[in-house]
Amino acid sequence: MIVAGGTVVTMDSAKRVIEDGAAAVRGDEIVAIGKRDEIAGRYDAARTIDAHGRIVMPGLINSHAHAAMSLFRGIADDLSLDDWLRKYIFPAEARNVTPDFVAWGTRLGILEMLRGGITEYADMYYFEDDVARVTKEAGMRGVLGETIIDFPAPDNKTLDAAFAYTQKYLDHWKGDPLIVAAVAPHSIYTCSEKTLQDSAALARKNGAPILIHIAEAPFELEESRAKHGLTPVAYLGKIGLLGPDVLGAHCIWTNAADITTLAHYGVGCSHNPSSNMKTAAGVMPVIEMRAAGVAVGLATDGAASNNNQDLFEEMDLAAKLQKISRMDPRALPAQQVVEMATIDGARALHLEKQIGSLEAGKKADLIIVDVSAPHATPMYSVYSEIVFALKATDVRTVVIGGRVVMDERKMLTLNEDEILQKAKEYQKKILASLAAPSGN
Ligand SMILES: [Zn+2]
Repeated sequence: MIVAGGTVVTMDSAKRVIEDGAAAVRGDEIVAIGKRDEIAGRYDAARTIDAHGRIVMPGLINSHAHAAMSLFRGIADDLSLDDWLRKYIFPAEARNVTPDFVAWGTRLGILEMLRGGITEYADMYYFEDDVARVTKEAGMRGVLGETIIDFPAPDNKTLDAAFAYTQKYLDHWKGDPLIVAAVAPHSIYTCSEKTLQDSAALARKNGAPILIHIAEAPFELEESRAKHGLTPVAYLGKIGLLGPDVLGAHCIWTNAADITTLAHYGVGCSHNPSSNMKTAAGVMPVIEMRAAGVAVGLATDGAASNNNQDLFEEMDLAAKLQKISRMDPRALPAQQVVEMATIDGARALHLEKQIGSLEAGKKADLIIVDVSAPHATPMYSVYSEIVFALKATDVRTVVIGGRVVMDERKMLTLNEDEILQKAKEYQKKILASLAAPSGN
């Protein structure tokens, strides 16, 4: 297959942008990137996708999500993180989250993400084996973490059951081309030291990545200082959890020493501007982290705390949040934000050898984006266009591992009508469950 014509934004190490470029794809890999004439002369294609007048770029990488929570979109807003979690989300999950809920919620999340050009996501939820199953069915790529938490979860009522489930889950998905099964201890405020250490040991025994929320809100920093006399990052370093296999979501309340620690251990971090602004959790020190060499990816967080999964919007907000909080319009330029949504997201997930840029030898995960809408015309700088002007709805075609999953906005792997219908049915069930007296 050849994707030909258009402005090819490679996000390779030279940050090449090729006008009238092309990508040649064989199987699930890119075999060549270059000028259209040159590629057309070198390869015969069974299928050519015309990308004339459009942007061709790497698929976006959503480095932190809870896809199934799409069914809780807008269930409780305008609250602090701890009130939102403890008073609304944990109780709603206890009453509603089943394998069927997770399957339909994840399909809804994936539908939204694919329509917005996201080709890889990192997920933390329950019944993660079902998350992996529907992700694979949709042809999407994922680093999918089974949540370990110190209270009875919707899927596993005890920690022993959770660890047994997770081992089985890791075994099930070993070696899959699309799915990386991961272990996801929720956070330091919902997991004991032993739970955190046991989770890390399980992950490392199986060569699986570790996904965890780190230093998300002021209460987490205060609790950590009071209990351990350390910041969350220092505490996680001390107990042996940090390493080059860890992705920390948020990492907002991190001082200079913490940032050095994260860089030292090769921890990847995930920035979630909408969610952080909405719960007033704080502003991640993105610029200091990038300067220290920490891989910082971009993310939507779950739809219940955002309330959408649109990485174009997150790019726009990530740039503006750094600018306004520092009163410096030069902070975090557009090109760096595109790096965060692509190659740095891949680095944060420790997958930069496979995805994140358009280069020969990498997986063929790419998107074709229309630039002809009024809000996108004219285009002077391709990076400014991507970050400040384009919207998720401008994405026309999505290719993952050489397979077209959305073609001119038509979904090829998901039944959109059925998913939206199921979401409405679930809305009724969820509302009824919240009206019922507690204990039901
Ligand atoms: Zn989260």
